[in-house]
Amino acid sequence: MLGRTGSIGRRFLLLTVAGYVVAVLASVLALRIASEGTLQSMQDAAIRDHAAANAQSVQNALEDTALQLGYITRDADIVNLAIGDTTDDAAARDALAALDVAQGVVSLALFDFLGDVVLEDLREEGANSFDAAEKAALAQGLVSADGASPRYRFRPGHTRSMGRFLVGLPLVRNGIVDGALIVEMAIDLSLVFPDRTSIGAAQLMTPFQMSMADAWGLGDGDFITVPVGETGIDMILIPDRASVALIGRELVARVTLAVGLVLLLPFGLMCAAGYRAIIGPHEALAVSREALRQRSRQLRELADISERLNDVIVATDLDGRLTWANHALTEKTGYRLDEVMGRSPGSFLQGPDTDPDVRAEIGRALALRQPIRREVLNYTKSGTPYWNLLSISPQVDGRGRPYRFVAIATDITLAKRAQEEILRAKSEIEHQAMHDPLTGLPNRRALDDALASIASPSGGDRVLIRIDLDHFKNVNDTLGHAAGDFVLDEVARILLHAIGEGDMAARVGGDEFVILLAEGRTRADGEDLSRRLLSEIQKDMEFEDRYCRIGASFGIAAAADGLVGNEDLLSGADAALYTAKTQGRNAVITYSDALHDGVVEARVLASELQRGLLRGEFEPFFQPQFDAATGAFTGLEALVRWRHPTRGVLTPDVFLTVAEQLSVVEDIDEHVSRLGLAAVSRLNASGMFVPKVSFNVVARRLQDPDLPQRICADRPEGTRISFEVLESVLVEEQSTEFQFQIDRLKDLGFGVEVDDFGSGHASIIGLMQLGPDAMKIDHRLIVPLTTSDVAMRMVQAILEIGKALGIRVTAEGVETEEHARILADMGCDTLQGFHFARPMPSDELGAFLRRYRPAPRALTAAEQGRTARQ
Ligand code: C2E
Ligand code: CA
Ligand code: CA
Repeated sequence: MLGRTGSIGRRFLLLTVAGYVVAVLASVLALRIASEGTLQSMQDAAIRDHAAANAQSVQNALEDTALQLGYITRDADIVNLAIGDTTDDAAARDALAALDVAQGVVSLALFDFLGDVVLEDLREEGANSFDAAEKAALAQGLVSADGASPRYRFRPGHTRSMGRFLVGLPLVRNGIVDGALIVEMAIDLSLVFPDRTSIGAAQLMTPFQMSMADAWGLGDGDFITVPVGETGIDMILIPDRASVALIGRELVARVTLAVGLVLLLPFGLMCAAGYRAIIGPHEALAVSREALRQRSRQLRELADISERLNDVIVATDLDGRLTWANHALTEKTGYRLDEVMGRSPGSFLQGPDTDPDVRAEIGRALALRQPIRREVLNYTKSGTPYWNLLSISPQVDGRGRPYRFVAIATDITLAKRAQEEILRAKSEIEHQAMHDPLTGLPNRRALDDALASIASPSGGDRVLIRIDLDHFKNVNDTLGHAAGDFVLDEVARILLHAIGEGDMAARVGGDEFVILLAEGRTRADGEDLSRRLLSEIQKDMEFEDRYCRIGASFGIAAAADGLVGNEDLLSGADAALYTAKTQGRNAVITYSDALHDGVVEARVLASELQRGLLRGEFEPFFQPQFDAATGAFTGLEALVRWRHPTRGVLTPDVFLTVAEQLSVVEDIDEHVSRLGLAAVSRLNASGMFVPKVSFNVVARRLQDPDLPQRICADRPEGTRISFEVLESVLVEEQSTEFQFQIDRLKDLGFGVEVDDFGSGHASIIGLMQLGPDAMKIDHRLIVPLTTSDVAMRMVQAILEIGKALGIRVTAEGVETEEHARILADMGCDTLQGFHFARPMPSDELGAFLRRYRPAPRALTAAEQGRTARQ
């Protein structure tokens, strides 16, 4: 991007420089063309001036000479000799002797007024260039002209430096020429004018030489002639054209320099201005254009993503009117965008069965400009309902003020249906689970629930009657099961008939029943009822023309007896019943202090447990888990065991309730995880790699912020550590802190699994928020898998939820080969149960894993189909 604009700047600079160069060259060229003629004539004038200056120099030199010689022409002795006043030339010779060779005088000759020679003085023998006749001719010319000025003759010497001149001087007296003095001079011409200059070669020429110019091959234009005054000598100059042109070129160079300098300023200004006015804005434009391109690329991608999304995204203004929606809205609901634009999405998406509470909650959140997340039932244009997980958030402008809402709706119909299926199946199971199929009476669980629902067990006067049929086994054995069933049904009928309003009769075992009297009834009422029942039950019962006779034992306990909790009440009644049985049956016994011992026993367990904890009597057993498809070993679940000093190894069902009452489960968990991690480290070190180990934890422990730190201290290399949380915990713990701690654990690499899934009421949202690694199906659903359709449907629904939410599913309580096969066929991921192994101490685990080979599994139905086609 910058490279491009940079090159634009560079190109602009180059262009300016090129323009500058062209402008300079053009100016110089124009100047040359315009001044061509002038230049030529200037050159010519320069040459001519030069020649004229040379000629002037020569003339000056000659006139100087004549002037210097002038005084001798006025000498009396010389004049007398010339005019013939004397013939003795001795005095004249003396006067002439003053002129010497050093002054350039070569010879002297004096002529009288007739032009005849009267004296001759040759200074240098044989040096004369001019002969006597020439001298005489010059003298005669002088005497025949009145008042004549000096005359000159020239002859080139042997060397240029010694040019020879004849200088003729008239002897003038009273305006009459009385004679002539002719002096031959040798004048050094090199002192007078330069022989050769840059303009050309100069030389003097005699008229004779001039007449011979043609013969020397000199044309008219080849030289310039300038006469040296009136001397008859010519100065000629042969110009050196090349040198003259050089002058022209120098001129051009100087002009170019000047033009170049002059143009530098305007072009510099132009360049600077151009940079500011064109390149600067252009570069800025290019930068913002690139940013714009990038932004629009991002926008395109964003648009593409939103259009391809399965989730519906809508934007509304603050009044909830639709302003924008992605394509998924049309795909999901069938509404065209132009149909619904400007309408409130709730007005066309919600329908008759949409929960009004949810609707109101959403309305409130919108009014308060608050984000909200709810499961909501929506309808397509054609009226088909579907479930959405709807998240609405207000969006704020730069000043933090909300200006619109954006909502994302995820279709959770599939998961929701699966959940509904679970709930339906569950309520069916619950009904079954709460009632005895034979008698239709509430069962043990129903009784537990009823007991648990009593608000304050200590407050009201609760009375509980336990009933155990006597000799019932005899009926079964002698008259058959049908008779046994009949008898049980009869007893149930008697109970139902006898109890009053608010009382509850339940069948809690094969031949065990419990009656829980309505609040306010007394121990005496219980005793009375029991006696009436006993007499009814003891009556003969007719079954298929045969009579059978049974009896019953009754144990009664009342809260008034100091039995504080329901467990106390049950065990109190139990103790009373036990006493009734041991006292010879068909008896009604009421709990008393004498029966207190049984209760005390539970207390003993509690103190033993606390001591056991201090003594380290708790340890983890391990139950291995296997991949449903391949049979490969996938991990261990740690299960706590109590090595009781006298009672042997105890399972959690014996002591966990007591531990909970004592609030020491966390301590047990801590202990179990420490020993468990150490055991896994040992296994890993021995070469039996454990991919995962999971620990059962109570919610409180998960919320302990120091948990990860403590666990990490002895974290085995490479093994994933997982925590199993009861599904019920998810329902109870919906605080954000809980979610935060869970997220933190997950971030630190710990796994989270939901235990006993299907037993509580965890919501899809709860599951989605928790995002566990796995859901464990309760063994109470797996064990009846082969006999109960309901259990089958429920397991199927859980597997579907797992699939929809991307959560693995583990089945526990896999007791048979058939369980394993059915679960693998249904797509369950992991299996655990007695079929593979019972929970075992860590020192047996090594041997087990070494022995263990994945069993070749029977082909699943799907696989069989595949092989058949091939
Ligand atoms: P859970 O977490 O559901 O554990 C599975 C229970 O099913 C174990 O009972 C196990 O022995 C049993 N089980 C395994 N395979 C089969 C099978 O094929 N058929 C049947 N019917 N049962 C099978 P366990 O060891 O008696 O534990 C009972 C419960 O006690 C556990 O249920 C768990 O909720 C709790 N628990 C066990 N260990 C700990 C612990 O360390 N901490 C805490 N907080 N709770 C624990
Ligand atoms: Ca568990
Ligand atoms: Ca379980």
